[in-house]
Amino acid sequence: MTQAGRRVRLLASVLAALAVGCSSRGRSPGGNAGRTIVEASPRAVMGTECVLKAVVPADRVGEARAALKRAEQALRRLEAVMSVHLADSALSRFNAAPARREIRLPAELTDLLRRAASFTELSGGAFDVTCGPVVRLWKRCAKAGRQPSEEELRQATARVGMKHLSITERGVTKLVAGVFVDLGAIAKGCGVDRAVEVLRGSPAVVGAMVNVGGDLRCFGTKPDGGSWRVGVQHPFREALCGALVLRDAAVATSGDYRRFVVIAGRRYSHIVDPRTGRPVEATHSVTVVSLPTAGKAPSATDADAWATTLSVMGPKGLALLEGRSDLEALIITGTPARPEVHMTDGFRRLLAPGTGINLE
Ligand code: AMP
Ligand code: MG
Repeated sequence: MTQAGRRVRLLASVLAALAVGCSSRGRSPGGNAGRTIVEASPRAVMGTECVLKAVVPADRVGEARAALKRAEQALRRLEAVMSVHLADSALSRFNAAPARREIRLPAELTDLLRRAASFTELSGGAFDVTCGPVVRLWKRCAKAGRQPSEEELRQATARVGMKHLSITERGVTKLVAGVFVDLGAIAKGCGVDRAVEVLRGSPAVVGAMVNVGGDLRCFGTKPDGGSWRVGVQHPFREALCGALVLRDAAVATSGDYRRFVVIAGRRYSHIVDPRTGRPVEATHSVTVVSLPTAGKAPSATDADAWATTLSVMGPKGLALLEGRSDLEALIITGTPARPEVHMTDGFRRLLAPGTGINLE
C-alpha cells in the first residue's frame, strides 16, 4: 500500500472511531450546562493521526488547552523512547546493541517489556514483541516483490522469542544476536493511557477522549451528558459496521485491512504469527474493549495487546476472556461474501441499543 493510501486508511479509522457522535458541544438540561469540548489534532504523533478531546466547564477552556498540550507532550515523550522509526530512541539503541551486553533502559520501556512478556506467556507465544526480524523480513521481501524463502523464515523466527531477552531491574540484555524488539502492537495503547492519565490529572477536565490511530480511551461524558460513541470500522470496505456506546473504557482495533504488504498482487497482514513467521490470514479484524473493574481503570495498553493477540489466535482465543469482566472482544473472520462474526456477550451489550454488527 502506498504511504498516501495508508494515511487515508488510518485517517478513516480514526474518523470511524470519532465520527459517531463526539461532536456535541455546549449545554444540556441534565446538570451539564455550560460544558464544552476542546479538541487538538497534533500532527504525526506515533506515525499516525491523533485526536485529543477534553470536556470542561465553558469558562475553563484555557485549562483544557494546557492539559491537551501536556497530553500531547506525554505522547511525544513516549514515542521518543519507544519508536523503532526514530534512530535515537532508547528502543532503537537497544535494538542496535550487541548480544550479552546489559543495556539500561528508561523504566517505562522496561515496564512495557515486562507487560509484553506477560502477554507472550498467556497467549502461548501468539503475541511477541521480539517478532521484529520476521516483520522486517516480510517488509524487505515485499519491496523486492517476492515471498521470503523457507530458509529466511527459519533464520528470522530463530531470533524471535521473549526467552531471548533477560529483563532485570538493572537493564535488558539480548541473549542471542539479531534480536529486534518492535512495540508496534502495544505502544500506541500505552501512549493513549499516558495521555489519558495526564488529562485525568487536570481538575478542570470532566471527560475526555484520546484517539491515536484508532486506539482510544475515554472517560466521563460528552458536554451534553451523553456517552461516547465509537464506530467500529468495516473490515472489507470504507464504512462503519457498528457503534459502541461507552463511558469509561479503552478500545483497540487490529485489522489486516489497516496495514499490509502486497506481494505479487496478494495482500499480507502486518500481523504475524511469531511462531511460524507467517502473516495472519484468517482474522480480518479484532476490536477489544477494556472496561473498569473494582480497583482497576480501563487499559488501552491491554486493549491494544489483546487486539493483536486475538488477531493471531483467532476466535478460539476468546476462551481466554471467559470469566473476565474487564475485557470484551469482537472478531471478524470469513470472506467479504461470507463474513463470520464472533463476539463476547459483553461486547454485544456495549453496542448502541437495538443495533448489531452489520457487514453488508
Ligand atoms: P497492531 O496494529 O496493534 O495489531 O500491531 C501490529 C504491529 O505489531 C505490526 O505492525 C508489527 O510491528 C507488530 N506485530 C506484528 N505481529 C505481532 C505479534 N504477533 N505480536 C506482537 N507484535 C506484532
Ligand atoms: Mg495491538
